[in-house]
Amino acid sequence: MLSGADPSWATLPDTENGRAIESAALLLLKFSEKGWEQLLFEHRDDDGHCRSCRTISPCSLLLIAQRTQFLSVRRPS
Ligand SMILES: [Zn+2]
Repeated sequence: MLSGADPSWATLPDTENGRAIESAALLLLKFSEKGWEQLLFEHRDDDGHCRSCRTISPCSLLLIAQRTQFLSVRRPS
């Protein structure tokens, strides 16, 4: 378990949206080894809103980036 990490990436709701995030995270991990790091930075929370989308944080892209980070950490090398 990572210390200081946002626990929200550890679990995804078993909903259509949750599965969409999981699929996007798997694609991101497959085609862009560290692409999620830039997404995490660009879509970080800024006082409750995403810095890029300006929607309520976390935005979909941040959720995907966090999920990809989670999968990346767990992936056996
Ligand atoms: Zn965003």
